[in-house]
Parts: sequence; structure tokens; C-alpha cells
Amino acid sequence: MPRPPRRYTPTHADGRPLKITFGEMREMGLRGVLVYCHCGRQVALGADRRPDEVRLSDIEPRFVCQGCGNRGAEVRPDFKRGDLRLAIRGYRNTR
Ligand SMILES: [Zn+2]
Repeated sequence: MPRPPRRYTPTHADGRPLKITFGEMREMGLRGVLVYCHCGRQVALGADRRPDEVRLSDIEPRFVCQGCGNRGAEVRPDFKRGDLRLAIRGYRNTR
């Protein structure tokens, strides 16, 4: 059977998809990440001190869950902690 067509996704050497960098995240006005484990635990981290060129997926293998001891959490941008004032200021600047 022919394989279904797949969109090309850049990945790390171990097959995990490349995520955005902290620099790109800051450009979006986001200031934190959420680290999720398979067991359901999640931790919120500030992203201010991460270098611009580091990807969220770069730091995933470094996390060891304090609940279940598993390595390899999932890191996602924390949209709730995004700086909404940026958006408001942007709106004011257009007037
Ligand atoms: Zn866990």
C-alpha cells in the first residue's frame, strides 16, 4: 500500500519535531512556557532568561518529572502568561 502523503516537518535527530525558539516566542509577546509530562503534571516556567536561539524542543529532554520520574516532557508556549498589555499598547499606537 502506498504511504499517505505527509507534510515535511523539520525534526531533531531523535525524530521530535522542531519547535519555535524563545526569541520567536518573545516576539509574540509570550513570557513563559508550560512543561507537560505524560502523567498529567505540568510546570510553568519563565522564559525571560533563555537565549533567543534556543528552541522549546531543545530543552524538552532536560526535564525530569518530579511526579513520575519520566524524562522527555513537552514544552509549549504559555499563552495565558502572554503579555496582553503589548496588544493593548499596539492598539493605542494605531490611533
Ligand atoms: Zn510525570
